[in-house]
Amino acid sequence: MSASTAAAALAALTDDAPAWLPPVDHWEIARDGDHWKVSGQLDTVDGTLGEADAYRLLVPVADRFKRPLTDDGRLIRTELSYFGTPVSIWYLRPVLRWLVPEQCATCPTKLGDPGVAYVRLGDGSREAPVICVGCRDRMHAAWVLTQRAPLVAARRAVSELLLADTGVQRPLWRGCFTELGGAEYPNAIGPVCTSDEHDGDDPTVYVCCPDTVVEVEAPELGAYLVELLNADAEAGERS
Ligand SMILES: [Zn+2]
Ligand SMILES: [Zn+2]
Repeated sequence: MSASTAAAALAALTDDAPAWLPPVDHWEIARDGDHWKVSGQLDTVDGTLGEADAYRLLVPVADRFKRPLTDDGRLIRTELSYFGTPVSIWYLRPVLRWLVPEQCATCPTKLGDPGVAYVRLGDGSREAPVICVGCRDRMHAAWVLTQRAPLVAARRAVSELLLADTGVQRPLWRGCFTELGGAEYPNAIGPVCTSDEHDGDDPTVYVCCPDTVVEVEAPELGAYLVELLNADAEAGERS
């Protein structure tokens, strides 16, 4: 059994997957003593594939090739022969014990210190991030802020206005000048003009530009609003 035979068997399995083959997300070819063998790991669908699913997928394969399904508590596996090459298809059982990382995933708090409470995010998988309760509360407060009904309503209203004005619900913004000459700093902010006639580096507002221009007295405030609006635009979907 040579490496090239094993590679050919693998190509046959991957390029023209037989109907009996369950979804596999990782293949490898490895030397096993004098032989080469092909191994495939069942696609765990981002860790959501459970033990019962693994049995449901592997039992028919074992039955088809009249080979046993082995389970050593860690690995559920069946072996078969394909184009003369030994092939094993396996499912690695996640270790169920949770690990507590040394440090909060979002701040320097040490989770092992006595009196430090922490929570596990996500679906309970063992790789799920663990954060301290302080961080959890900060995240929750931030979430509440973004869900505030007046903010959501205001965002929606502006989104419709911008769609009518610029053709996109969340255009990118820039600092701009509403008058030629004079001002040292942009005296307004406005959606980026997408007209072909308008040089992207030219910060002046012309007739080609969107009407939704907001004059701001302080350039610092304008720069801040541009950053806020662009962060929002980049975080959200644009149509
Ligand atoms: Zn923390
Ligand atoms: Zn323009």
